[in-house]
Amino acid sequence: MTFHRIAILDWSAAKGPRLGRDSIWLGVAGPHATQCENIATRVQAEARLHALITEALAAGQRLLIGADFAFGYPAGFAAHLTGEPNALAVWNWLADRIRDAPGNVTNFRRIAAEINARFPGDGPFWGNGEAAQTPGLPRLKPALPPGLPAHRATDIAARGPGAAPKPVWQLAGAGAVGAQVMTGLPVLARLRSAFKGQIAVWPFEAADAPIVLAEVYPSILSAEAKAMQQAEGIVLDAAQVQVLAGAFFALQTRNGLAALFAPPAPEQHLEEGWILGASAQHILRAALKPQITPPRPRENASSMPQGVEWVPVAVALARLRAALVPLATPETVTIAEAMGRVLAADVRALRANPPRANAAVDGYGFAHATTGHGVQRLPLTPGRAAAGQPFAGAVPPGTAIRILTGAILPEGVDCVVMQEDCALDGAAVLFDGPVKPRANTRAAGEDMATGAQALPQGHLCRPPDLALLAALGVARVPVLRRLRVGVLSTGDEIIPEPGLPALPHQIYDANRPMLLAMAARWGYAPVDLGHVQDNPGLIARRLDQASRKVDVILTSGGASAGDEDHVSTLMRSKGTLSSWRIAMKPGRPLVLAFWNGVPVLGLPGNPVAAFVCTLIFARPALSLLAGAGWPEPQAYMVPAAFRKTKKPGRREYLRARLDAAGHAEVFASEGSGRISGLAWATGIVELPDGAVDIREGDPVCFLPYGSFGL
Ligand code: AMP
Ligand code: MG
Repeated sequence: MTFHRIAILDWSAAKGPRLGRDSIWLGVAGPHATQCENIATRVQAEARLHALITEALAAGQRLLIGADFAFGYPAGFAAHLTGEPNALAVWNWLADRIRDAPGNVTNFRRIAAEINARFPGDGPFWGNGEAAQTPGLPRLKPALPPGLPAHRATDIAARGPGAAPKPVWQLAGAGAVGAQVMTGLPVLARLRSAFKGQIAVWPFEAADAPIVLAEVYPSILSAEAKAMQQAEGIVLDAAQVQVLAGAFFALQTRNGLAALFAPPAPEQHLEEGWILGASAQHILRAALKPQITPPRPRENASSMPQGVEWVPVAVALARLRAALVPLATPETVTIAEAMGRVLAADVRALRANPPRANAAVDGYGFAHATTGHGVQRLPLTPGRAAAGQPFAGAVPPGTAIRILTGAILPEGVDCVVMQEDCALDGAAVLFDGPVKPRANTRAAGEDMATGAQALPQGHLCRPPDLALLAALGVARVPVLRRLRVGVLSTGDEIIPEPGLPALPHQIYDANRPMLLAMAARWGYAPVDLGHVQDNPGLIARRLDQASRKVDVILTSGGASAGDEDHVSTLMRSKGTLSSWRIAMKPGRPLVLAFWNGVPVLGLPGNPVAAFVCTLIFARPALSLLAGAGWPEPQAYMVPAAFRKTKKPGRREYLRARLDAAGHAEVFASEGSGRISGLAWATGIVELPDGAVDIREGDPVCFLPYGSFGL
């Protein structure tokens, strides 16, 4: 049983979104590196776990997820509540009742009171940190119902008898864990049913499914975590999840992990659960002792360096998507103002199109029932029906009337013959029968009926949509507030504006004008955050100011792991969600973090890499934030006008354009400093992650700039 990745989840019952200390942290250890993410809400954390499991299953990999809250309650509870002495029955019972809204608003206190009512006396649960009373939930500790222990056997085993933990019954107060259990178990229960048959919950089920959930106790390695906290200047929770994930992974490398799953599960554990590694502190600690191996020599500079986790583009996209939530503030605007905006609600037709049945051609109208085979001769009724000039009277049966395109069909007319197919004979019109019923007419509402959905919520309004809305009588529509996109450049070498004098070691800021223009082109409100030196204090201050006036921040530069890469260092210290080395060329580093709750996308400094990363990552992320969903660029397969041999292991994007024959030619140099290639190109060619050998004429995937809305 080998796990490809081991994730440790530090849960939080926080009220409202929260980052930093005592919020949700997720440490993930893999063969090359351990990463850490900070997640603001339980709903986002559930989505993240869902994505992590999906990724693992899609890649045919095994994943262990350790969570730091009790998987069961002390013996006797499950049977009393559900009729079965089985913790998973409690999971389902709670999942059916406990709700948690996206802003971390939960009803678990009310459910705890409901449970209390099912027990003798005051019931087991107590503690309420809220101002409002919850009837049935005592603020102070009541006597436990008879026969119900305060602690589980495993809590005593993990901490020692002298250091009894806070009981799961206590829902509020420092160190209380009860609220975490009540908010955490429903999440795990839902994941368990979403991935039925693929997830095992240890120790209630054998740990042999692709995905295993187990309870863990991150403070078991508190000395190691404190050391890491100090060395890296990160919060303790972040250190704990990484240390424990790393320790489990290291233990597995030394073939010691299986033994932790081994202890036979006595009856009691099936109800109470058991902490993985509860009595194995010394073994885990020993596994962390370094085994130093030098980096393997690299074949050449362009093959993937060892010792770091290279995240495939598709995986980074899935993570980004799972981490972001759309804006939700609507405003009502005229349809002209709605151009380029995202609809905040479905829009329905206020009027049918066409409002009444009318003529589709210029010709003669009559009742179909009065015509037959052969040459037809219908006397003309005096008068005329034209667009905007309806015919007031009725057309008698057996007669025809002159009618023009767009005219409402007069009473007595249900069919029109085109004037090109007619001859006039004084006061009558002649044509060949038979004619089809309803020929050359448009039925009322045939395009859209009144009340039909014209455009869906989340739709981005384009010029043709304005035509539709106007036709349907819709004057004003609800749209989402325009996304405010801040753009910040970093780097000691950068001169902010091209007109200013520059010394030889200085370069002009190329990214900021490009990124601001991209944001504007996509219909967002660009906010110029200027340029800052490579100075953590200055960058932090600028981000603090920016986070008050924008919805999302794009930074460029400083996102790698070099000495002057302060953006990534800062993000890590203030609660980074993720910093990834992406297996793509150009543009490896990408940072996603939340600064005072505002998402920050840290792009590479290199303009070519910054541009490609913006197309591939920032564009869908901004669209999702703006409420327009996650767009995929329209790709075209075209013959290559170039040759290339590409190694496996990363996705490559080449600056490209179509030649006169419609074949994709690529820019002469792949050098990522060659900004001129961006201007030369009209799109990019995407080469897949695997190895490819491309010859002239082979089909390649061309993504025109237009496919990205540029
Ligand atoms: P960095 O990501 O900060 O290591 O920068 C990588 C490369 O991109 C360096 O050569 C920088 O000088 C260059 N660079 C960073 N920011 C910009 C910018 N705003 N405009 C042009 N070049 C930049
Ligand atoms: Mg730099």
